[in-house]
Amino acid sequence: MENVIDCVIIGSGPAGYSAAIYLGRSNIKHYIYTGDIPGGQLINTTIVENYPGFSKGILGINLMNEMYKQAIKFGTIVKNNKILKVLFSNKKKHILYTNKNEKIITKSVIIATGSLPKNLKIKNEKKFLGFGISYCATCDGMIFKKKNVAVIGGGNTALEESIFLSRICKIIYLIVRKNRFKASKYLQKKIYKIKNIKILFNTTISKFIGNKKLKYINLLNNNNIKKKKISGVFIAIGYYPNTLIFKNQIKMDKKGYIITDYKSTKTNKPGIFAAGDVQDNKYRQAITSAGSGCMSALEVEKYLLNYL
Ligand SMILES: Cc1cc2nc3c(=O)[nH]c(=O)nc-3n(C[C@H](O)[C@H](O)[C@H](O)COP(=O)(O)OP(=O)(O)OC[C@H]3O[C@@H](n4cnc5c(N)ncnc54)[C@H](O)[C@@H]3O)c2cc1C
Repeated sequence: MENVIDCVIIGSGPAGYSAAIYLGRSNIKHYIYTGDIPGGQLINTTIVENYPGFSKGILGINLMNEMYKQAIKFGTIVKNNKILKVLFSNKKKHILYTNKNEKIITKSVIIATGSLPKNLKIKNEKKFLGFGISYCATCDGMIFKKKNVAVIGGGNTALEESIFLSRICKIIYLIVRKNRFKASKYLQKKIYKIKNIKILFNTTISKFIGNKKLKYINLLNNNNIKKKKISGVFIAIGYYPNTLIFKNQIKMDKKGYIITDYKSTKTNKPGIFAAGDVQDNKYRQAITSAGSGCMSALEVEKYLLNYL
């Protein structure tokens, strides 16, 4: 007889582990596949200061370790490999293949594969991540209170991040590669009215400079390089949802984010749910991911109740 598991969670960030904790506590047999980044995006940051319950902040890696231990405690089986191929069906059994040639048959799936910020591919970008470079103003803006920062990008995210930072930081240099914004007219109108945002069109960063922490950036404009002292740089040029393996299997929007029902993690396929950044192009926070992870587990529980 074939072994059919109740639920497989794909992805081990806050969404995946929150789902696992809830499934474990409902006594639903499940596996979690960690993928290439066990713990998800937060393991690439230093201190997380906005996750409720940690008044002194907590290192991203420690927060994810706690989630891992909590899931294990309630019976989660953690598999340290990744899903390479999925065959979602309308007939209640779904097949997944791993990079270890494992074939798994499951009644339900929670997709929690997150997204990855696009990077500039400039030397030292990785080195200063968490030490002056950030991909999230909501997460790290307060670190640069009353200091000068730069935001890179000309789309909606970059303008929204700049507006957010204008309430916290001293000067925000908004660095735009082209001679115009890609952002909505509404945001453009707003940004021109904010006095502490200085817009630098036709400009890119050519170098990040510092020892342990970022100290300067080189700005490139019309072949001229200018060295600028800066406390922080926010890279806001977009995200890639990790959904390539789900192409043609499930409904996505044109950017590749999985579409879920309103106030739900249900996708267009019965038994397939999506939680966290992979279905959220708007909030992209650990707490919202954990929240939708919890929702997905509760929805799986209901789905399995009616499973014949
Ligand atoms: C540098 C940085 C700092 C941040 N700081 C904060 C902060 O301070 N506060 C905050 O609230 N948010 C912060 N965020 C945002 C936060 O990290 C994300 O919103 C959150 O991690 C999203 O959780 P998730 O579970 O949806 O996905 P992720 O954390 O992205 O996890 C995705 C998981 O899916 C796995 N995966 C992908 N593909 C596969 C596959 N094929 N098979 C199996 N597994 C797969 C990956 O290995 C990973 O484990 C930060 C983000 C970054 C990049």
